[in-house]
Amino acid sequence: MPPMKSVSEHTFHITTFGCQMNVNDSEKMCSLLCEAGWRWADQVADADLVIINSCAVREKPAQKIFSYIGRIPKGKRIVLAGCVAQSGGEALQKRQPRIDAVVGTHQYHRIVEIASALIFEEGSPDNLLDFSGEWRELVPSMTSRSSAFSAFVSIMEGCNNFCAYCIVPYTRSREKFRPYPAIEAEVRDLLEKGVKEIVLLGQNVNSWRDDSAGMDFVALLDRLSAMPIFWLRFVTSYPGYFAAKLVDLMAERPNIARLMHFPAQSGSTRLLKMMNRRYTRSQYLDIIERFYRKIPGMEFSSDFICGYPGETDFDHQLTLSLLEKVRYQSVFSFVYSPRPNTRASILRERLTLEEKKARLQELQAVQAGIQLKKHREMVGSRQRVLVTTAHPKSEGEWIGRTEQLRVVNLSGRFVPGEIAEVIISSAGPHSLRSGPART
Ligand code: SAM
Ligand code: SF4
Repeated sequence: MPPMKSVSEHTFHITTFGCQMNVNDSEKMCSLLCEAGWRWADQVADADLVIINSCAVREKPAQKIFSYIGRIPKGKRIVLAGCVAQSGGEALQKRQPRIDAVVGTHQYHRIVEIASALIFEEGSPDNLLDFSGEWRELVPSMTSRSSAFSAFVSIMEGCNNFCAYCIVPYTRSREKFRPYPAIEAEVRDLLEKGVKEIVLLGQNVNSWRDDSAGMDFVALLDRLSAMPIFWLRFVTSYPGYFAAKLVDLMAERPNIARLMHFPAQSGSTRLLKMMNRRYTRSQYLDIIERFYRKIPGMEFSSDFICGYPGETDFDHQLTLSLLEKVRYQSVFSFVYSPRPNTRASILRERLTLEEKKARLQELQAVQAGIQLKKHREMVGSRQRVLVTTAHPKSEGEWIGRTEQLRVVNLSGRFVPGEIAEVIISSAGPHSLRSGPART
């Protein structure tokens, strides 16, 4: 009998689809496997085990997972994790027999046990789709991060809102909050390691609270922004949970980045009601106004859904007018995609896919125009830029981003992680350029 290989001889690769929560979950699984002696493989072809961390928010990206699995070279063990795994369950293995284990969003703490069982051909462990109501600290100290100077810190998970179109409450279950001491410990550890930017993560970060510490989300930002964090960010904020004291706090804390992701989904109150979003157009605009009045440089980004069942052309025009009023820094826009179990999935759709796409294109064209105008207004201005990477295509050039997450192409000599002060010399709809002038 050949000697049994030790775990450390085995390699793994994780491919991540979807949101920053998924990226952060992949970092956690990576840290757990590395701590247990597994080795990371840069390429799928070099890995014994391939983990796919999937996203189910819209149908098309969810479908792509299956063609991706079909392209993985034979002979690998394959784990399907994430939201597609959670919503599709074990039935997915019938559809794609190459999947060895289907792991739900609350079972990542078992990734080492699962990986070893698959490699040593013990079969897939049980109960890999169970939810747990308690917050679980997965890794004592994260060893695998995608960036050395910018880090995600998750503070909550799940969602209680049940927007009529959204699968997240079914794939991530109800809200659970990370206790304050664990958040503070992780942030301190990151700062000691030289991290400059902290991004607090959760489906609805502004519903966070820690009852035993007597803290809500604004109290959390108050405590963390008193630490030497260069830029503190948080994503995503649900407009229905807005607290007026957040504006006051941000006005006095310049290290809380002046950009808030604040998904509107639609500019029509009628549609927002049908989507079960718990705010109106005027309430949303009133919040934006409060920030604009009190915080110079404040900007917003948003998500929009085009062609929701029952959306009229008038509703769509209201969405376009919201874009013009807010003048977003950027928007993520999607064609409505019916998702299993959601309330909207049984609604009759009157628009064809082409009609929905036409609305999406119109929205994107309006937003591109707004961005271009805003970017041109920035030409000649001085900006602080976090330098992230060398330009992949053009030698001697670098890529960085501003406080409001605008991509800046830089020429000159830089070091990744450096905060540079640059003058913007030209602008396009999606990025800025800084000339040689630099202090
Ligand atoms: N919790 C955040 C909020 O409520 O603002 C959003 C999180 S959700 C995972 C990310 C985005 O996906 C949503 O803001 C929405 O625009 C989009 N989305 C969710 N379900 C969708 C669907 N069925 N069709 C199209 N887009 C969808
Ligand atoms: Fe989905 Fe709505 Fe929850 Fe956001 S708030 S995750 S859109 S159900």
